[in-house]
Amino acid sequence: PDETWRAHVSRPTGAEQTLVVLEDLTPVHRAARARSDFLANASHELRTPLTALSGFIETMRGPAKDDTGSWPRFLDIMAGESERMSRLIADLLSLSRIEFSEHISPSEHEDFTKIVLDATEALQPIASERSVTLELVGAEGALPVIAHRDEIMQVVENLLTNALKYTPAGGKVTVFYGNTPSMVEARAKAGHGWREGERMTLLPAAGRPGKPDPSVWLRIEDQGPGIEREHLPRLGERFYRADQSRGGKITGTGLGLAIVKHIMAHHRGGLAVETRLGKGSAFGIWLPAARI
Ligand code: ADP
Repeated sequence: PDETWRAHVSRPTGAEQTLVVLEDLTPVHRAARARSDFLANASHELRTPLTALSGFIETMRGPAKDDTGSWPRFLDIMAGESERMSRLIADLLSLSRIEFSEHISPSEHEDFTKIVLDATEALQPIASERSVTLELVGAEGALPVIAHRDEIMQVVENLLTNALKYTPAGGKVTVFYGNTPSMVEARAKAGHGWREGERMTLLPAAGRPGKPDPSVWLRIEDQGPGIEREHLPRLGERFYRADQSRGGKITGTGLGLAIVKHIMAHHRGGLAVETRLGKGSAFGIWLPAARI
């Protein structure tokens, strides 16, 4: 037996032949590898802010012991690093819960409109703080879906947080939603008209665009820097951050989209991104509608 196969050998007494059943262990190994990669990445990511923190503690105890004038600056950096660690831990907990726990299929009837409105309202203070206009363009009335309310809230919030984070002050983020892709797309087109950018489906699923299956749709458009083509296929991998190479100052954990992708997969929904450098990005999700 090797790493990927386990052999079950049986030979009934007196029988001429031996029965060998080969069991494919690939899925087991893949899950184990995913878990150990996750732990390795998580420890690595946590070590970075921790190293910075202990570095400053050592500096304040040693070389900068009497240089108390510099302490407020050191403390600011330390506060930032510890905030980063808390964010990372919160995201890691969400992701490991979603990725590795036995997932119960969504079964509750929820109103997608309400989820979108609630998530948008929750992020309005961040939009104001960053001087970004947050605009909501959507269907009137309820859009029934079968979903985990908290999880879909988190999806919308993660996508909105990114849109707000990458849009410069004075810019605008628009949330389009509805029960047909054409409605969402037509409204988006009327809004900005930059649909000739790069496009990538990150999660093909039931209720794909163009499929007649009735669904609910959401599209969040921002006026950020856009995402370079080579990064698109890797978005949604945990810890993958496209702007690191650009030396971007925007902080993040690289877990937000991984969380989104997992939640959408559990919901048999989809996720796509459309982006144009220098113009902005639009993230779209869709969910199978509730059949009543
Ligand atoms: P992060 O915490 O780094 O934002 P995410 O998983 O949410 O992690 O996003 C992964 C990467 O995808 C980001 O680091 C960024 O490079 C890119 N990205 C996500 N959303 C946007 C957006 N709206 N505009 C530009 N880049 C984005």
